[in-house]
Amino acid sequence: QVRNLTRTHRGQQAPALRGLDLEVDPGSCLAVLGPSGSGKSTALRLIAGLDTPTGGTVLLDGADMTDVPAEKRGIAMVFQRPLLFPHLSVIDNVAFAGRAAGLSRSASRAASRRYLDLVQLGGYADRAVADISGGQAQRVALARSLAAEPKVLLLDEPFSALDSALRSDMYALLRTIRDELNPTIVLVTHDQSEAAVVADAIAVLIG
Ligand code: ADP
Ligand code: MG
Repeated sequence: QVRNLTRTHRGQQAPALRGLDLEVDPGSCLAVLGPSGSGKSTALRLIAGLDTPTGGTVLLDGADMTDVPAEKRGIAMVFQRPLLFPHLSVIDNVAFAGRAAGLSRSASRAASRRYLDLVQLGGYADRAVADISGGQAQRVALARSLAAEPKVLLLDEPFSALDSALRSDMYALLRTIRDELNPTIVLVTHDQSEAAVVADAIAVLIG
């Protein structure tokens, strides 16, 4: 739940995000549809705890997240670009959350297999990330975020850099992920048809 969420940057007159209210049912997928510059990325960054609001609150299962650091919120985010760690293999990118949580290299790799299989890249575990395609890299980014077992998955225009055929594949993959793991999803997009295809409900953000 998001209440009156506002972010004004220092020295700026217009807020990047003004008074956003949202309620997302557990296990559902909400799309936030808005034009470029309307505050979509700002909203997700505030929900994730990667930025601090100048007003309003984010609640998770009724608990105020204001003072909870990003890594303790149980919220994962996927960006428009995959932002993989270039020096790590595919499997070690996915294993990152486990390593950060203190698992051994082998235990975190073992736990990662499921997520790599889920995004249909089970055969690519030992590839260098430089040697996979853009669409595959975005699926690795998705697997990496899912491996943290988040309650809430935030997707910031994650398919917009892909061509339309790959995008359709990603919509089907998102359906599989929802059936298997049932995370609560907030996807922001400027693409009305994408919102209609993937979401249970659509909110419109007017900047
Ligand atoms: P969207 O993701 O919908 O394209 P953003 O959330 O990135 O929109 O940006 C919303 C508005 O806030 C834009 O006008 C943008 O220029 C402004 N903005 C975003 N980040 C900053 C920042 N760090 N400092 C100043 N203005 C910012
Ligand atoms: Mg954005």
